[in-house]
Amino acid sequence: MTPDHPPASRDPARSAEEFVRLVRTRDGEVTVLVYTTKWLTPYTSRSQWVVARRRSSLDSEAEARALVEEVLHDPAFFGTCGECGDHNPRGWMHSAILCQGCALTGHGVVY
Ligand SMILES: [Zn+2]
Repeated sequence: MTPDHPPASRDPARSAEEFVRLVRTRDGEVTVLVYTTKWLTPYTSRSQWVVARRRSSLDSEAEARALVEEVLHDPAFFGTCGECGDHNPRGWMHSAILCQGCALTGHGVVY
């Protein structure tokens, strides 16, 4: 049920969508998974696919797309940097409004 491969290492050009997977089971249940990263220390992270949404069924592809969009805009999983505008997984945000890249380059943050 978990996708085989996690996203490749972080590349700013990659879309946040790469961190979201919609999985359908044989009985029609739909699960939206998000690849989350938690920082145990500044240099040690643990990443895993977690269930963000689950539906017993979906009626259309539009509904599936809407469910993925909902997850992409869920602040529990993603944030948008107020400086560079990148839409990032929460694990790559320094705070709710600042990405790690901007924190490092513009705010003197040292990890
Ligand atoms: Zn930024």
